Amino acid sequence: MPEILPFRYLFGPGPGNAYPEVMAALSHPVIGHLDPAFIDRLDRVSAGLRRVWGTANARTWPVSATGSGGMEAALVNMVSDGDVAVIAVNGMFGDRMCEIARRCGAEVVRVDHAWGQPVDVDRVLSAHPHPKVIAAVHAETSTGVRSDIAALGAGKGDALLLVDAVTSIGGLELRADDWGIDIGYAGTQKCLGVPPGLSPFTVSDRAFERRVQDPRSWYFDIGLLGGYVGAAEGHTRTYHHTAPVTMVAGLEAGLDRILAEGLENVWARHEAAGAALRDGLEAMGLELFAAEGHRLPSLTTVKVPDGVTSARVRRHLLERFGIEIGAGVGEFASTVWRIGLMGPNASPAAVTLVLGALEEAIA
Ligand code: PLP
Repeated sequence: MPEILPFRYLFGPGPGNAYPEVMAALSHPVIGHLDPAFIDRLDRVSAGLRRVWGTANARTWPVSATGSGGMEAALVNMVSDGDVAVIAVNGMFGDRMCEIARRCGAEVVRVDHAWGQPVDVDRVLSAHPHPKVIAAVHAETSTGVRSDIAALGAGKGDALLLVDAVTSIGGLELRADDWGIDIGYAGTQKCLGVPPGLSPFTVSDRAFERRVQDPRSWYFDIGLLGGYVGAAEGHTRTYHHTAPVTMVAGLEAGLDRILAEGLENVWARHEAAGAALRDGLEAMGLELFAAEGHRLPSLTTVKVPDGVTSARVRRHLLERFGIEIGAGVGEFASTVWRIGLMGPNASPAAVTLVLGALEEAIA
């Protein structure tokens, strides 16, 4: 038996703790990935993902990869040599998109923002007269900021809107069709309350028609993946790769859990937990990092007070309470903490626990 690693309260930027139903589903027997029972499961998961994405896109499925794999899949299918990609960068993940788009051969028009600020829609929309793609991160986990995707969609014109919903899906209002998202990727390990390993993915017909033919990635070629996902093309499933069947079972359990609670109730639960956490942190005299009015409920960034060593506090939380919170990113590595309340952790109990433990650790 390998060692069972200790239980942790995962109050960092992700992964978060998983719903108990999800962990139970992960212990079910392994099933063949072309077994009719599994194909039915994949169809149910795609239907559930349509609901959390807020889309009717037939091409909605879990890509067999983490969020970064979803990012790579989205970009490699949308941009190739010389295609113009306008990418909003207000944190680490916008920056990662630029790097991937560059490797795909795109002409990247990067629109930088101060970290902690939301995407400036006007600047992004006027950055290039006719980009093929406009890309942005809905919920920037590195800074704790939410951006207005609906406004980008309203002004995108002929461009395709590519969106990262890793830290928003299943926790914040997300309406891919209403907001004009053409292609989006997410992750399972945050508000969906499922371990890392799959990337909920959605592609509109418009994006599919304008996809790169013969993209540089075979594994992520959405033209080939159509045969595996099936529904969109209406043909029988064929082998493309061996689907991570057990992870898909876990995802189904997570989706069932969320949809039974009601998507809007889940969003409200995340909003309430985020607001209570922010109030508690401010009541302790701490200063929030992300711009007011644009703060994520699922991920709160707070400044490390003067005279306090970030790493010491995080070590104390881990060793004394089994609580993980995140350090900041880049130049804010030692001056900001990131506290995530996602999935099952979007609860009053988690808020009370993390606030009490942090107060003790700082003292
Ligand atoms: N995008 C955002 C907003 C993220 O928060 C993350 C991970 O934290 C990713 C992309 C990359 O996902 P992964 O780490 O699962 O590859």
